[in-house]
Amino acid sequence: MTRIRFVRSEAAQASLSARCAGLPRFFWFAGPLVRSGGLPVSPDAGHPIRAPAGAEGRYGRRRRGGCGRGLTGPRRAAARRPAPTSYSDRVSVRTEQQSRQRILVVGAGMAGVQTAVQLREQGWPGGITLVGAEPHRPYDRPPLSKAVLLGRAPGSAFDVDFGALEVDLRLGTAVTGLRTGDREADTDAGPVPYDGLVVATGAEPIPLPGAEGVPGVYLLRTLDDAERLRPVLAGRREVVVVGAGWIGAEFATAAREAGCRVTVVEAADQPLAGALPPPVAARMRAWYGEAGAELRTGCAVTGVAASGTPDDPVCEVELSDGSVLTAGAVVVGIGARPATGWLAGSGVALGEDGSVLADERLRASAPGVHAVGDCASYPSARYGRRLLVHHWDNALQGPRTVASGLVSGQAETPVYDPVPYFWSEQFGRFVQYAGHHTGDDEMLWRGDPADAAWSVCWLRGGVLRALLAVGRPRDLAQGRKLIERGTALDPVRAADPSVPLKSAAR
Ligand SMILES: Cc1cc2nc3c(=O)[nH]c(=O)nc-3n(C[C@H](O)[C@H](O)[C@H](O)COP(=O)(O)OP(=O)(O)OC[C@H]3O[C@@H](n4cnc5c(N)ncnc54)[C@H](O)[C@@H]3O)c2cc1C
Repeated sequence: MTRIRFVRSEAAQASLSARCAGLPRFFWFAGPLVRSGGLPVSPDAGHPIRAPAGAEGRYGRRRRGGCGRGLTGPRRAAARRPAPTSYSDRVSVRTEQQSRQRILVVGAGMAGVQTAVQLREQGWPGGITLVGAEPHRPYDRPPLSKAVLLGRAPGSAFDVDFGALEVDLRLGTAVTGLRTGDREADTDAGPVPYDGLVVATGAEPIPLPGAEGVPGVYLLRTLDDAERLRPVLAGRREVVVVGAGWIGAEFATAAREAGCRVTVVEAADQPLAGALPPPVAARMRAWYGEAGAELRTGCAVTGVAASGTPDDPVCEVELSDGSVLTAGAVVVGIGARPATGWLAGSGVALGEDGSVLADERLRASAPGVHAVGDCASYPSARYGRRLLVHHWDNALQGPRTVASGLVSGQAETPVYDPVPYFWSEQFGRFVQYAGHHTGDDEMLWRGDPADAAWSVCWLRGGVLRALLAVGRPRDLAQGRKLIERGTALDPVRAADPSVPLKSAAR
C-alpha cells in the first residue's frame, strides 16, 4: 500500500497543521510553514480565490462593493472595521475568509489527493471537496504495471484518512463541465460550487484507432484495466503489445515474467522514440531479446480483428509489412493525452496537446483555477520551454505549489520549475531519468552500456542538463542536484564511472 498516512489526532479541534504532523516527511514537502509579509488579505488583493462579482458567497463570502454593503449584523460590523495592519491581523482575516470558502479538486489520482493533503498541511481552514470519476478508493498508478498486474499486490490505494483531513471525498463522480462565471462544476450527480478549483484530471490513454471495443484489446491506465489484464498474465496468453514506450516495456516485462509469449510492435525505428536518442535506445532494444520478448520496430498495426468468444478471444493483428500476428490479447501503450475534454467551452485555456496552459505557479487562465499533474503544462525557465510532464514525481510535487498559491497567495508561492524526474522498472533493470534534454545537447556515456549498470549525461555548454541512469541510483541522486544547481562538469571525470558524479563538478 502506498503510504500517505494521516492519523486522526485525539483532539478533533487541534490545529490542522499539528494534525498533519502524522504525515510522513516524504509527503510533506512544505516543511515548516513559511509566513512572511505581503499576504493578500482581500479577495481583490491578488489572492487567486475571488468572490464572483456582486454575488453573496455560497460560503458566506463578503459582497464586493466595500465596507460591508449588503451585509447585516456582525459581518457588516466586521467589514466596517479598519483594515488590519499587522501581519498577524492580516493572517487571521485571511484565515477567517478562507474558513468560509471551499476548494474543489477535480480528479482523485496522485495530484488530486496530494493537493488535498497539501492544502491541509499548509493550513487551509476551509472546505475541500475531492471528486473522482473512478469508483475505487484513490490509488497510485505505477504499481499497476508492476506488482498489481502480476497479482503480487491486491491494489495500491493511498493510505490517507480523508475523514480526519475533513476532505469531502466523492468517488464515482465524473465532472462533465465547468462554468467559471458561476464558479460551479457540473457533475453527473449535479452541480458543485467552488471558490477555488484545482484541475487534476490526469491523462487518458490514446486508443488504437479502429481497435476500440474489439474483444481482447486492452489499455493500461486504471486499476480496472490492470484487473482485466491479470487473467491474461495468469493464463499465460500470447500477447501483442502495441508501442515500445515506457508502459509497453513495463507490461512486456510483467508478461514475460508471468510466462507469456510476447511480441512488441513499434511504429518507430526504435523503442522509446521521442524520449531517447538512437544510440541509447539501441541498448534498450537488446533488453527485449534478452528477456525473450520479440521487438518489431518500423512496423505499424493497421488493423485488429477478433474471433473466438469474448472470454477467450483470438486476435488477429495486421501489420504494415503485411504480416499478421495471432494473440490472445493485444495491449495498447501508444501514449496518453490530458483528460481535459470536460473543460471545453469553460474559458480555461488549453494547449494544442490538450493540456491546461498553466502559468509558472500552476494557475490556469480562469480566475481561481489551478491545474496540476498529467493534465497541466507549465512554462519552465530552466529549460526555456513549456513542459507537459506525465510522470509521478510531477504529480507529487506540483500540489505543493498549488496549495501554497491557494493558502498563502501568489506573493509567497515560489515558481514551479523542478528538475523533472521519473523511473521505470523494465526487464530487471531500474531506469531513472532526471532533467530534460534535446538533440542539441552533448551526450556523454558514463560507463559501458554493455554492462549491467551505466549512465548517460547530457550537457549544454558544459552544464549538466539531464541524466539517464540504468542501475546507478547514486548517479541519479547526485545528477539531479547538479542539474538543479546548473553545475558545469569536467567531461573526462564525468565519463569515468569510478568517479562519483558530484566529484566531476568544476
Ligand atoms: C500503468 C502506469 C504505470 C506508471 N508507472 C510510472 C513509473 O514507474 N514512474 C513514473 O514516474 N510514472 C509512472 N506512471 C505515471 C504516473 O502514474 C502519472 O504521472 C500520475 O499518476 C499522474 O497523476 P495525476 O493525478 O496527474 O493523474 P491520474 O493518476 O491520471 O489521476 C487523474 C484522476 O482523475 C480522474 N478524472 C479524470 N477525468 C475526470 C473528470 N472529468 N471528473 C472526475 N475525475 C476525473 C481519473 O479517473 C483519475 O483517477 C505510470 C502510469 C501508469 C498508467
